[in-house]
Amino acid sequence: MDSEKIKAGVRLILEGIGEDLEREGLQQTPDRVARMCEEIFAGLDKTPEEHFKVLFNAEHREMVLVKDIPFYSLCEHHLVPFFGKVHIAYIPGKDGRVCGLSKLARVVEVFARRPQLQERMTTQIVEALEKNLNPSGAMVVVEAEHMCMTMRGVQKPGTTTVTSAVRGSFRETHKTREEALSLIFH
Ligand code: ZN
Repeated sequence: MDSEKIKAGVRLILEGIGEDLEREGLQQTPDRVARMCEEIFAGLDKTPEEHFKVLFNAEHREMVLVKDIPFYSLCEHHLVPFFGKVHIAYIPGKDGRVCGLSKLARVVEVFARRPQLQERMTTQIVEALEKNLNPSGAMVVVEAEHMCMTMRGVQKPGTTTVTSAVRGSFRETHKTREEALSLIFH
């Protein structure tokens, strides 16, 4: 990441809105924002593969569901936050292999910590599961509040956007999908 470019950009925005860069509260702001970018965009140079290196043979062929994984991301259209919860369900494939539960939260971080769209993030997570776990089914549901809808624009606080992506048996079997949804939203 080029922190000098980020600092210069922040200075330009502050100048552009007519602020005084020498004002005490703003003197360190370009520097702080540059350091923050390292953190909130840390997913840009990461891939989900690194979190699926260790898999276990649990001989478990039933549903695994991890719900309420918190995430914070930035809407790529406005560069303001959208945040909420990710729910991930999958049914292991024939080999019965599963990943560590905490790894699913790590995969969410990979895709959340970059300029993002909720719809794309939902698809990227389910595709990472498909590719790395080869499950017989996978489902990802994301619930989020978008600051670009609440602090600007239509200004509807409390509005939640829900997206989902379903693959394999979750797509083909109504009952399987219903089971996961009732566990997520009960
Ligand atoms: Zn937006």
